[in-house]
Amino acid sequence: MAITPLMPVYPRCGVRPVRGEGCYLIGEQGERYLDFAAGIAVNALGHGHPHLVQAIADQAATLMHVSNLYGSPQGEALAQRIIGNCFADTVFFTNSGVEAIECAIKTARRYHHVNGNPERHKLITFQNAFHGRSLGAISATDQAKMRDGFEPLLPGFAYAPFNDLDAALALIDGETAGFLVETVQGEGGMTAGTPEFIRGLRQACDDHGLLLILDEIQCGYGRTGRFFAYEHYGITPDIMTVAKGIGAGFPLGACLATEEAAKGMVAGTHGSTYGGNPLAMAAGQAVLDVMLEVGFFERVAQKGERLRSAFEQLIPNHDHLFEEIRGKGLMLGIKMKEPAVSRDFVAHLRDNHGLLTVAAGENVFRVLPPLVIEDEHIDECIEKLSAGARSFAVPMDD
Ligand SMILES: *Cc1c(COP(=O)(O)O)cnc(C)c1O
Repeated sequence: MAITPLMPVYPRCGVRPVRGEGCYLIGEQGERYLDFAAGIAVNALGHGHPHLVQAIADQAATLMHVSNLYGSPQGEALAQRIIGNCFADTVFFTNSGVEAIECAIKTARRYHHVNGNPERHKLITFQNAFHGRSLGAISATDQAKMRDGFEPLLPGFAYAPFNDLDAALALIDGETAGFLVETVQGEGGMTAGTPEFIRGLRQACDDHGLLLILDEIQCGYGRTGRFFAYEHYGITPDIMTVAKGIGAGFPLGACLATEEAAKGMVAGTHGSTYGGNPLAMAAGQAVLDVMLEVGFFERVAQKGERLRSAFEQLIPNHDHLFEEIRGKGLMLGIKMKEPAVSRDFVAHLRDNHGLLTVAAGENVFRVLPPLVIEDEHIDECIEKLSAGARSFAVPMDD
C-alpha cells in the first residue's frame, strides 16, 4: 500500500514535535524551535500553560461530557462571560472554526427566512478569503485550490475583491442576506480590512437590512491587541465566528450573535454532540481567566508594536527580500518580493534557524507567536530572522 496511515492531505514537514514549553516546541530528537506559529494562532497562552493544564485536568476528573439535552451550567457561565465582553447576546459553541462558520451561515439564512424573506439567502464574501474546509466554507471563497474537484458547491455566494467597498456594494441584490468577511484576512495574506471598507459594509447592512458576519477565527481573541479585531473599527457585527485562541489548544469554537440576528435559531434548528461540553468550557474559562486580567490586551498590543518596529528596522537591511509589513498586533506578516518565495523562506527559517512561522497567500509569511511572549522571545525571533535573511538564497526560476 502506498497511501500513508494519515490521509495525505497535508504536505507535512520534517518537524515532529513531541513536547512544548512556553514559546518553544521540542522535536523527537530534542531539537528546539522558537514557536512563532503557535499552531496557526491557536496556542495563545503558549505550550503547557499551568492554569490551562490544571483547569483541563480538574474538569476531566469531574465531568468531561454530557449531552446538550441536559442543562449546562458550564456553558451558560462561559457564554455569559463572553457576552459580557462583546457585542453578542447569545453563543453557540462548536469544536472548530469551520463549524462556527456553518452555524453563522445557517443563522443568517434563518434570519431572513423567519422575517418572511426566504429569497434573501446569498452571502457576499471576498477574494482570498479562508473560512475553513466544509462544503459551505469552501463555497464561501473563490480560491480554486480549495474548491477544485469538490463541485457541486453550495449555491448562494458571490465574491468581491477584499477591501473594495464599491465592488461589494455593487453585488447587493434582492437575494442578498449579508456579508461574510474576515476583519483581518489570515491565510489570504494578513491584510487588515481598511476602516472605510469595514465601516462601509456595516453601513450597507444598516441601510439594506443585511447581516454583517465577521470571521474572527484567526484575528479574534486578543490576537490584534484587542479582545476582538472589530473593536479597532468602532463598529459591531451581527454575527461573529471565533475559534483558534478561544481554547488555546483545546478544540473549541463559537458562533456569537445578537438577539435579533439569532431570532431564527430556535429549538431543533441546529446542534452538535460535543459542542460546549464541560471539558471544553473549562478550557474556555481558563483562557479567559488569563486574557481578561487587566492589561492583557494592552500588553499584546505593546508586544505587537515592538515586533513590528523590529521588522521595520530589519526590512531596509534586506530590501532585496522583504517588501512590506502587514497585519495588526501579534498577527503580523511580511510580504516578500518576487519571485514567490515565502514558502521556501518559512522552510529555511524552520530547518536552518529553528524559527517556526507560517506561509500565507500573496507571498507573505506569517508571524503568530503566543500572546504571552516576552521581549526576549521577540529579540530571539529577530536574531533568527536576520540570520535567516542573510543566509537565504532566493531560488532561481527554471
Ligand atoms: C482557521 C480558520 C478557519 C477554519 O477553522 P478550523 O478550526 O480549521 O475549522 C476559518 N476562518 C479563518 C479566518 C481561519 O483562520
